[in-house]
Amino acid sequence: MSTELERGKKRLFEALRRELNAGKVIDAMERVPRELFVPQESRHLSYEDIPLPIGEGQTISQPYIVALMTNALELKEEDRVLELGTGSGYQTAILSLLARKVYSMERIASLAERARVLLALLGRTNVEVRMSGRVLGCPEEAPFDAIIVTAGTPRLPRALLEQMAPGGRMVIPVGSAREQDLMKVVKTDDAYSISSLGPCRFVPLVGKGAWDET
Ligand code: SAH
Repeated sequence: MSTELERGKKRLFEALRRELNAGKVIDAMERVPRELFVPQESRHLSYEDIPLPIGEGQTISQPYIVALMTNALELKEEDRVLELGTGSGYQTAILSLLARKVYSMERIASLAERARVLLALLGRTNVEVRMSGRVLGCPEEAPFDAIIVTAGTPRLPRALLEQMAPGGRMVIPVGSAREQDLMKVVKTDDAYSISSLGPCRFVPLVGKGAWDET
């Protein structure tokens, strides 16, 4: 890594540690080279706290949002995690350092393939990147201890609520196409509790129960 990038990385992680009380998550993030997950032409921006285009009209999330969402999942070593929206695979790599198994769903084949290659390159063997099917999420492998959705939906999809284990946590952006509220859902034995983590902006989650294909 160039000294320029190294300096940027140090600055970014110092800022994240100041802004968020999420030491364990930020330690895991620091172990994942974000520069591998961004396209060549924006590599010099890898450690700026901004989202970046990754092709196919999609983006890799801003590091602050990655830290905030991952921390809200309250992951334990033995957890099984579902991610919707593999994208670059950066968030996937971080989840795989904090949980037992990660199922990551993607609807664009070229992104899924590139993410698989990068995750293998980093030796992340507890991850499966799968193509999304007719039903949102991955009902075949449900229930999950944690679900993270890195694309925005107009409402809470019932299919995902049904894939939560008792005691499970889900973080999901809900709102309009332009702006969403980052919601945290916790499932108890017989109910769901919902809180807000603040405003955010994600590309659309496409599928039944979310946005229609255009
Ligand atoms: N976490 C990713 C961000 C990806 S952007 C990263 O840090 O790189 C959101 C991704 O969600 C896009 O790649 C998009 O193709 C994908 N997506 C949209 N609808 C989906 C669906 N129904 N199931 C799985 N992935 C979906």
